[in-house]
Order: sequence, then structure tokens, then C-alpha cells
Amino acid sequence: MPGFELFGDLERQQVNDVLESGVLMRYGFDGMRNGHWKARELEDKLSKRMKTKHAQLVSSGTSALTVALASAGIGAGDEVIMPTFTFVASFESIIAVGAVPVLVDIDDTLTLKPDAVEKAVTDKTRAVMPVHMCGSMAQLKELKAICKKHDLLLIEDACQAIGGTYEGKPLGSYGDLGCFSFDYVKTITCGEGGALITDNDQYKKHADHYSDHGHDHTGKDRGAETHPFLGYNFRISELNAAVGLAQIERLDEFLEIQKRNYTVLREALEGLPQVIFRRVPEEGEENYSFLNFFMPDEDKARRAHKALSENGVDGCFYWFDNNWHYINKWDHLKDLKSLGKLPAEINQQLPDYHKQDFSVSHHWMGRTISVLIKLGWTEEEVKVRAKKMVEVLEQF
Ligand SMILES: *Cc1c(COP(=O)(O)O)cnc(C)c1O
Repeated sequence: MPGFELFGDLERQQVNDVLESGVLMRYGFDGMRNGHWKARELEDKLSKRMKTKHAQLVSSGTSALTVALASAGIGAGDEVIMPTFTFVASFESIIAVGAVPVLVDIDDTLTLKPDAVEKAVTDKTRAVMPVHMCGSMAQLKELKAICKKHDLLLIEDACQAIGGTYEGKPLGSYGDLGCFSFDYVKTITCGEGGALITDNDQYKKHADHYSDHGHDHTGKDRGAETHPFLGYNFRISELNAAVGLAQIERLDEFLEIQKRNYTVLREALEGLPQVIFRRVPEEGEENYSFLNFFMPDEDKARRAHKALSENGVDGCFYWFDNNWHYINKWDHLKDLKSLGKLPAEINQQLPDYHKQDFSVSHHWMGRTISVLIKLGWTEEEVKVRAKKMVEVLEQF
């Protein structure tokens, strides 16, 4: 991460194709487009790469999550289980469809703790939405078993782990629906964009219509199309899709670079007894976008994080205090600070997150440091970084 580090001729060529025809919209204008259908082509490439029947491109990862929930018929008063460690997009998308975000602890995988998920299931629960944070995956086999037992949907947020696998399957393709983000800082980027993948024909049809005002996309005249149900505009533009088309061709190259750089850092830290790596579920392979490890306690993690940045090791994150990624700082959610009135179901059903006990999550997050793995580092830079990290961390 991030794919923008290696922008080049391939991206320029793709964008030029679109600018030369001047058709920036993914639908219609057939005669003017010189045969360029960038969004459609990227959907084909993505579904092939992810080994699913369908892909639907949308305007962001957040819209992908929202459209996934809407396409599966999740709405007002339904409960969706999500982790305490994620990006704010998880609860934003749940609330956007009128559903209730039910926050559940994480464990040493830094993703949903399966037995805590099972405890949180009620008769209103409709879906479990694990987030494959920082390059590695949730315990998908266990979560799928819980979903099967309680008749719930499994919706994977693979925005930070594109290209990782579980039981040999691409992350995102294991559940009923999987979501990706192609925002500017993700492993592959469109500038802004996102996608969902699924094997389910009906979810694909719903996603296709819903993300474009409910348009049924039949025939050649957009103005004459009917609207089988209400939708919204979550479309991606051809310009963004064009960048993504160049980047997806390079996904495997990027993954290889991430793995190489990650491995140098990991091997350097392996000798330090105070550093314990985050657990990757059996049968899983990370996408290597971050190296994540635990320090012996919260105080040491905090001080080590500070010392790393003071010694020039940039791109290290201490998520426990982060505004975007951890429940500690989500007061706007806890207090439901919305501009307008929210659906009554959310007001009534949202648990009091000021009072709920998340000490299990705090135990892990308080000790976690994550290091962003960059694509643009030279071999020498990675070696110097590894050496510096060892020098700093061995003092704790
Ligand atoms: C980036 C991200 C999103 C949202 O993607 P956007 O394209 O920025 O809307 C959702 N979930 C996770 C885990 C992310 O990292």
C-alpha cells in the first residue's frame, strides 16, 4: 500500500483513452466511446481475479459496503455485527441503510472474536460484517459456521486486504458478499472507487440497479429505462475506472513487492522476545500491506511507537488512540450525533457504547503497533528501516 506510489504509463494510457473519447460516464453514449467501457472491463477483470461470478464497481469502499447491505435487503431495525477495530465506514454504511451497528470485540487476529460474535446474535441480527484489517483476515471458517447456524449473511470488508487469501480463496470471495476500496491510499487505487463481489445473481442485479438510481439497465435508451425499486447514485466514473484497470493488472506485482518488504522487516524483528506478531488464521495468507505486532503492555507500546517515529521510522500506527479506526474515539457514534433525525429503530436499539465492556479489545489494541508496508522503498531503504526498528524496539 498504496498503489499510487507506482503510477506510470499504464495508468496514463488508460486515462487518455477515456479523455480522447470524452465519455466520462460508464453508461450510455455508445456511439461516442470508441469501444471503451472501462468500468465494465474492470468489473470483468475483478470478478476473474477474485474468482467470483460477479463484480459491481461503485464510487467508494463505503458505498460498496452500503450497496452490499442494501442489495441483500438489509434495512431499518436489522442488526449487523461489526468489530470494534475497523474504519468508520463500517458503521456509516450500516446506519445509511437504517440498520443498527452491533459492535463486538476483536482478538489477537485484530479481527472479530468468533465467540463474542455468537453471544451478540439476537433475533434481529441479519449479517456479520468482519473487517480484514491491516492486510490479514478474520476467522472466516468460524464466522461462516455461526452465520450458517443462525441464518445470517457473511459480508467481508476486504478493503485493506485485497489479494490476501483464505483456504486458497481470494479474500472477499468467501462470504456472501465481499467489498473492496480503491481510494487513494489502498493497495490498488482508482483515486476514488470501490467494488463488491458475489456469486449471487440477485445481489448482483440489485447492486447494479441500486447503485444507479434503480435503473433496470435494459435496452439502449437510458431515458426509457424503468425503476423496479428505489435506488441511489453510487456510480464510478470512467476516469476512475480507467486508473483501476491499469492498477488491477499490477496487483500481483504490488503484492509481491509488499511481501518482499514485509518479510525483511518481519525477519529482523523475529529475534526480539518482546515482539509478538499478530495471529494470522490457519489457512490464511496475508496481503502484506502492514506488519502488525504486539508489545508486552500498553505503556511499552505507546512509548515504542513514539520512539519509532522520533527515530525516523515513519508510517507506524498506534490505532488505540486513532480517531478513525478504534471505538475509543467514536464519540459521534456513541452519542448518535447526526445532522438530521435518524430512523427511530437506530435511536431505540443502539446499545450504550459508553457503558459496554470492550476490555478484551483494549487488551489487544493497547499493545498493537502496525507498520505500513510501502511499494516504493528500495532494498537499501528496507534494510535501514529494519535495522532502525530493531535498535528502537530492543530497548523495551
Ligand atoms: C478504506 C476503507 C473503507 C472505505 O473505503 P473508502 O473507499 O475510503 O470509502 C472501508 N473499510 C476499510 C477497512 C477501509 O480501510
